[in-house]
Amino acid sequence: MAGHHSEHEHVRVAVVGSGFGGLGAAVRLRREGVTDFVILERSGSVGGTWRDNSYPGCACDVPSHLYSFSFAPNPEWPRTFSGQEHIRAYLEHVTDTFGLRPHIRLDSEAKHMRWDAERLLWEIETSSGTLTADVVVSATGPLSDPKIPDIAGIDTFEGKIFHSAQWDHDYDLRGKRVAMIGTGASAIQIVPEIQKEVGRLTLFQRTPPWVLPRADRAISGAERWLHRQLPFTAKARRGLLWGIRELQVQAFTKRPNELGMIESLAKRNMHRAIKDPVLREKLTPTYRIGCKRILLSNTYYPALARPNVDLVASGLSEIRGNTLVAADGTETEVDAIIFGTGFHVTDMPIADRVTGADGRTLAESWQDGMKSLRGATAAGFPNWMTIIGPNTGLGNSSMILMIESQLNYMADYVRQLDTLGGRVALAARPSAVNAWNRRVQDRMKRTVWNTGGCTSWYLDQNGVNTTVWPGTTTEFRSATRRVDLAEYEVVRPPKPVQAASGARTEKVGA
Ligand code: NAP
Repeated sequence: MAGHHSEHEHVRVAVVGSGFGGLGAAVRLRREGVTDFVILERSGSVGGTWRDNSYPGCACDVPSHLYSFSFAPNPEWPRTFSGQEHIRAYLEHVTDTFGLRPHIRLDSEAKHMRWDAERLLWEIETSSGTLTADVVVSATGPLSDPKIPDIAGIDTFEGKIFHSAQWDHDYDLRGKRVAMIGTGASAIQIVPEIQKEVGRLTLFQRTPPWVLPRADRAISGAERWLHRQLPFTAKARRGLLWGIRELQVQAFTKRPNELGMIESLAKRNMHRAIKDPVLREKLTPTYRIGCKRILLSNTYYPALARPNVDLVASGLSEIRGNTLVAADGTETEVDAIIFGTGFHVTDMPIADRVTGADGRTLAESWQDGMKSLRGATAAGFPNWMTIIGPNTGLGNSSMILMIESQLNYMADYVRQLDTLGGRVALAARPSAVNAWNRRVQDRMKRTVWNTGGCTSWYLDQNGVNTTVWPGTTTEFRSATRRVDLAEYEVVRPPKPVQAASGARTEKVGA
């Protein structure tokens, strides 16, 4: 941007992260004609959560033809629910196809970003040097920093410990006594895979999940040929997958009782494999289906019925040497512990690394809960936006749809800055942020996530759902189509004569 002097390299946009969100942002920026941008990636390759999660059985529960970018269809998806390695390869392919490599800085972890209110830019310290940017697009994702619970005595454990997202492929599980902690989407994919190898598997289940059958199958050569030759067939397939899910949303958001019908399908899925009534009892949830993410598996329950598996229907509460003690007092001796205990979602670690206009970090500003404007921007953090920000998650459809909506918003944001011209920033008005959050939380009241009788990672420490979008993807698409300048203050640099008085703001719209 004109008139800017800095001792550091300066870019128009710095994108943080190279998962679906960051790569999508990069493609979109290029399409908007913005080429002056970098993607900062803390790791040595692209792919985000699909690079990190390499545990046995890792796959996506959203059909691949929907869990991919609309602008990068892949006629070659091998299965209806493709595995991690195929999704990761897809992201590498997107990186090449759209010429993103020159923009990517690998092994460049964003350590800290600070808003410079005088110069109207972000100063970003990374592990490979400092740079400045007019706009930051933070695409670090909600499922990127593994969470291991603070278990008393964890330091006394002498065996092997790792998290599902940091799988130790060098550790040989064969014949070992292994504890799997947690029964979320990751754990239930891992259990059937490792059950075949380990000597004894003890699963610590604090809350049983609802598990529906998984309609996974190979996509035939004929289908793939058709999608290759006639791209509209792949588009139609995607449209159908999207439409079905769009119609289901109301049950989650407005009429949770309708979901009761699906509970019987899940129970039948369990009854088919689990013949022991005591085990069935332990595995039967007592909350409404959908309150926690619905899991899909045909192999989880059969694995639990195998003789080398024990289910402890209680959380892990203490570790004494090699003995794991559950909250109900059950003691189990193991050689290895695998934590399938999820991620730091509502306490997003990147928030500690962002310092805004008033000198406070985003984490401090979000102390009482994450709050954004349209899932993207935050009050006090001009020209900073996040992809998959607060209340943009989905309970039943593809996150890529939400990401693409946020990319529309980002594109319009950058366009608006260009139109305003000169050195300029947009600062979300607190009143607009509050109005948006009131609207979101009002709609949240009736949803299954809030009324279903469970606790989940969707809720923050105060029990507020700051993660899920309480509507259809279509509604979110229309809410993010354009940046409404009335919701922002337009910030200009201080005039030379006013140099000491800080940046001035312009009134635009209401
Ligand atoms: P998660 O859903 O947060 O599950 C964490 C699990 O750890 C829960 O079962 C939790 O129990 C349990 N837990 C926590 N502390 C415990 C303790 N002290 N003792 C026993 N259990 C404990 O994490 P995740 O499975 O990694 O999944 C996170 C998200 O990633 C998913 O919801 C999904 O969005 C995504 N994901 C998707 C797929 C897929 O598409 N198939 C696969 C993996 C992940 P409570 O339920 O009692 O809290």
